Amino acid sequence: MIKYYKDEEIQNRVRRVVDQRSLSYIDPNRVVCFKSKGTKSKRIIARCWSLPTIWQKALEVDAHYVIEVISEKFDRLSEEQKDHVILHELLHIPKGFGGGLRHHKQLKNALEKLR
Ligand SMILES: [Zn+2]
Repeated sequence: MIKYYKDEEIQNRVRRVVDQRSLSYIDPNRVVCFKSKGTKSKRIIARCWSLPTIWQKALEVDAHYVIEVISEKFDRLSEEQKDHVILHELLHIPKGFGGGLRHHKQLKNALEKLR
């Protein structure tokens, strides 16, 4: 079974990366960070979860995102690699911060613009 823990360290990392990369369209207060343990998937280091528009309306909340890092994979990375993973996940969030996600193809373009 997967266990989820809210993670303040990841939360601070998100704030810092958003700042450093000038991702001003991202509201870090609405990016909730979790660390999980027990995922079966062998490849995933982290993932970004969205709250679709219909759920925002149903629950009467604004758009939020969750960044989940997989403890077994993420914890052994260097600081630099961790930042890179977080940046990658943040780039999944579209400019509109509306509740959708950008695919990897769109992400490539976004990454190139940052360089
Ligand atoms: Zn990705």
